[in-house]
Amino acid sequence: MSGPTAISGRSPRTTANVRRRRALPSALGTRVLVVEDELPIRQLLRRGLEAHGHQVFEAADTAGGIAQCAECDPDLVILDLGLPDRDGRELIAEVRVWSRVPILVLSGRAAASEKVSALDLGGSDYVVKPFHMQELLARVRALLRDRPRPREDAAVHRVGALELDVARHRVRLAGSAVKLSRKEFELLRVLMMHAGRVVTHKQLLGEIWGRGHENDVQYLRVYVAQLRHKLGDDPDRPRFIANEQGVGYRFIEADAG
Ligand code: CA
Repeated sequence: MSGPTAISGRSPRTTANVRRRRALPSALGTRVLVVEDELPIRQLLRRGLEAHGHQVFEAADTAGGIAQCAECDPDLVILDLGLPDRDGRELIAEVRVWSRVPILVLSGRAAASEKVSALDLGGSDYVVKPFHMQELLARVRALLRDRPRPREDAAVHRVGALELDVARHRVRLAGSAVKLSRKEFELLRVLMMHAGRVVTHKQLLGEIWGRGHENDVQYLRVYVAQLRHKLGDDPDRPRFIANEQGVGYRFIEADAG
């Protein structure tokens, strides 16, 4: 045995905290939402996905699937099209308004026109039932490999004219410093980190104010209003922070051009 190493001595509690904060990346622990009305298929998918280290969430209809997309912020969605309330394609159209999460369609509809329609709406891949679990899992891996990465570890977040330097605790707007309180800075950091995606009220409150404050939406309103004011952002025509009514907030991604 070798002697003590440089990485020893870290308390289990510290390790757990670090792990909790970096919830997202790598194959292990990725969040997969299964939207499927047939219970046996949901169960089959859950078993296969969990065996490969994925965390599985379920919904049995389109409305539930859309709600879960916002609530559990999945890394990937597996979507049936023939659902009891609304066609699964409506989930693709709706979720694509605010999220780039990979959506793998798993449907009994084998016609080329069905595939074209689902992919044109923003579906990422299409697998026809009956399916082979190994093939499905391989496609899940491929989509997770290619998905847009959360810019979690970046020391500097830049979106348009706004720059947030995590290490220096500094925010600049078009080159000029913006003075933010600690909570305002944290709020902006979390929103920018997930730019283009909706961050729910619950996630923001849990991350910034901690456990037990997940329902204090009024805190959030106050801080978002202050933050918008300091960034010169108009809530009616937002440039940075968009309100997703009843769900949360989304940092608006700058256009590529
Ligand atoms: Ca079905």
